[in-house]
Amino acid sequence: MTRILFWLALIFLVVAAIRSKLRAAARAQQMQADPRREAERMAAARAAAEAEALAAERARQASPQAQARARAVAEAETMLSCAHCGVFFPASEAVQRGGRDFCSQAHAEQPAP
Ligand SMILES: [Zn+2]
Repeated sequence: MTRILFWLALIFLVVAAIRSKLRAAARAQQMQADPRREAERMAAARAAAEAEALAAERARQASPQAQARARAVAEAETMLSCAHCGVFFPASEAVQRGGRDFCSQAHAEQPAP
């Protein structure tokens, strides 16, 4: 369920970004016909960029799942494989012996299979 919401938020973001880019491009093309409207074109481009940033910010606020996911990725710890049993465990819990990493004191004391 969390995954579905995350993907929906991501798809919405991409669609919004593409739509605002297309709109800005169409507006720029229209105004290129009249070079005296340079300032107006610049203002339109700035407004489009602002709208894009606002939409992105709103999407970020609207999806706590996406926020939680980003936080989890940031907090993810390096995982190591035990030299005895092969199980994966956080690097902070490693028991090191002879330059190898083990999941527990018991496995560090047993010979490798
Ligand atoms: Zn082990």
